[in-house]
Amino acid sequence: MHCFRSSSVGAAGSQQTRRSSAGREATHSAKSKIVDRIRSRQTSTAAATVGEAAGAAAAVGAAASRPTGPLLLDSIRNSFKTHSGAPYSSKPRGSPRICILGAGVNGLATALRLQQALPSARLTIYADKFGSDLTSHGAAGVWQPYKLSETPEVLTHRWGAETFTHLMELVHSPEAVQAGVEPMYCNSLFLAEEPDPFWASTVSGFQRMRETDLALFSKHVDWPSIQAAAAVAAAAAASSYSPTDSCGPGDGSIDAATAAENATAFVDGYSFNTVVCEGRLYMRWLSNQLDAAGVTQQQRRLRCLSELAGEGWDLVINCCGLGSRDLLPDPHCYPIRGQIMRVRAPWVSQCVFAEFPDETSYIIPNREWVVLGGTGQVGNFSSSMALADAEKIAGRALQVVPSLAHAELLDHWVGLRPGRVRLRLEAEVMSPLALAAAAEAAGVEPGSSTPGSGRLEELRLVHNYGHGGSGLTLAWGTAGDAVQLALSMLQGGAPGVVCVPGERAAKA
Ligand SMILES: Cc1cc2nc3c(=O)[nH]c(=O)nc-3n(C[C@H](O)[C@H](O)[C@H](O)COP(=O)(O)OP(=O)(O)OC[C@H]3O[C@@H](n4cnc5c(N)ncnc54)[C@H](O)[C@@H]3O)c2cc1C
Repeated sequence: MHCFRSSSVGAAGSQQTRRSSAGREATHSAKSKIVDRIRSRQTSTAAATVGEAAGAAAAVGAAASRPTGPLLLDSIRNSFKTHSGAPYSSKPRGSPRICILGAGVNGLATALRLQQALPSARLTIYADKFGSDLTSHGAAGVWQPYKLSETPEVLTHRWGAETFTHLMELVHSPEAVQAGVEPMYCNSLFLAEEPDPFWASTVSGFQRMRETDLALFSKHVDWPSIQAAAAVAAAAAASSYSPTDSCGPGDGSIDAATAAENATAFVDGYSFNTVVCEGRLYMRWLSNQLDAAGVTQQQRRLRCLSELAGEGWDLVINCCGLGSRDLLPDPHCYPIRGQIMRVRAPWVSQCVFAEFPDETSYIIPNREWVVLGGTGQVGNFSSSMALADAEKIAGRALQVVPSLAHAELLDHWVGLRPGRVRLRLEAEVMSPLALAAAAEAAGVEPGSSTPGSGRLEELRLVHNYGHGGSGLTLAWGTAGDAVQLALSMLQGGAPGVVCVPGERAAKA
């Protein structure tokens, strides 16, 4: 569903920023280029910093010569209000105009963290789709790193841990209901021996599963048919094996298929306490936070980044997920098709991930239903439901949790996970030449949306996309790094890199 989103609070906020913009543009020439604006802002920032320091010194001197009064107490209280809890807090430096592309979990989380770090910034979110049309909206939202290809483990660990902490804080807050976050006990079952995952220390109560529990989960599995399917899957996996789709537990890898040829039970497993952050609810919560902060959210489809050049943005943050494939264009992006079904089964209260030769079967309780999954079809762009997939998903889930035979089917859903060789978190300055080339490749007339001069200006960018099957697991953490890159770019820093892009990773 395409929709225009701008709440009354958001609209009021944006009117305010428009008024302050008018004032600023009256003082400085409206025709000034992005570079000029950044330079002049740096100068005024430096002046402000010097001014603030002088003011602070004067205040200290004045305070020493007069008794402590309510003014000092007020300023102490205000200083705590300003600085507490804002990640990567930095002093406001003017009112930069920042455009965030994408209203999925990554666009919204990045916008919210940026707004917290730089309250004076004027933020606009552009996206061609909002809400229920998005991949983020349909995600069951269990916290567990999954399908991240070659993204370095050390980074995934850090982003995941930061997101886990954020989600657990929400769980223990009054916001938990609106944010759709709940603690969840999870069981993971394997056909071959599986080492502890790198994130075992992030979750609480991680433990290896006892044989008696493995036997209980194995009891109703049709092992002869699994063995038969395994031989076929092993051959298929061997011929189509690709590192891009074999990251994470139980992705239908060669190991699993080979092990299943003689399997009579799940031979390994672990359980842990994690958090489920339901996409549709968490997204609504993020969006409401942004509305309350006066951030504008507007429907707009971009064919090419050059369309933004000349619009006066101090910075653009690209959180377009799989859309980056065509927008940039980025050939390292690919879809990982995920089909699921939702059933009513309120008696199912635990997550189960069960490895099968070709796919991992998963059962994830959400607030109003239980999600049964799934598929992880790399390179498949189809967003249509496939009966064969649905039958397989249901058949596997029934073998692991037989009571699901009594569940009521609610609906089917397909989403395309934004796969990438590596998640991309990187700042970039696109020169007018690069923008013109991109515009030409996209069939967009260079400078067609550039008011006045018709000339392209450089574009300062931060990229944050390629989260695969872990968008809700990593969003808060990657948003924190995106904000750091953004602050550095706004202060005139050289473009930084947190996670190198695929083409350079391939050479490294
Ligand atoms: C079946 C399934 C189950 C999943 N379960 C989980 C789970 O349990 N836990 C978990 O962590 N993750 C899960 N995921 C993965 C998660 O959904 C994704 O990683 C996440 O949604 C990616 O978010 P995003 O914001 O990067 O992209 P998206 O949600 O796809 O948002 C992209 C945004 O960019 C906009 N956009 C794109 N191109 C353009 C353009 N040219 N112009 C303007 N706007 C544009 C889109 O309109 C959209 O607003 C699951 C995914 C699937 C499919």
